Amino acid sequence: MSDTSITLETISEVSPGTDAHIRANRLPVMTGTDEGDLNCGKCGKAIAEATSPAGFHQKIQTDQRLVVECTCGALNVIPAA
Ligand SMILES: [Zn+2]
Repeated sequence: MSDTSITLETISEVSPGTDAHIRANRLPVMTGTDEGDLNCGKCGKAIAEATSPAGFHQKIQTDQRLVVECTCGALNVIPAA
């Protein structure tokens, strides 16, 4: 884990209609070429390896808030780039 890894903020529930809800059945969801990982705010597992928030938003394009459900059940918000 590098110094640029981010521990994501978790929320208690998804807001239907305003959140893009992604389930991470298998971690990591994606591996990019950025510095740092995006780690679950509850269990600390990498949800996306070598992926910045900006990189995540480039791969999953949505105007909604990106919420990734970790395999531990935590709802992690990908910050706006
Ligand atoms: Zn987790």
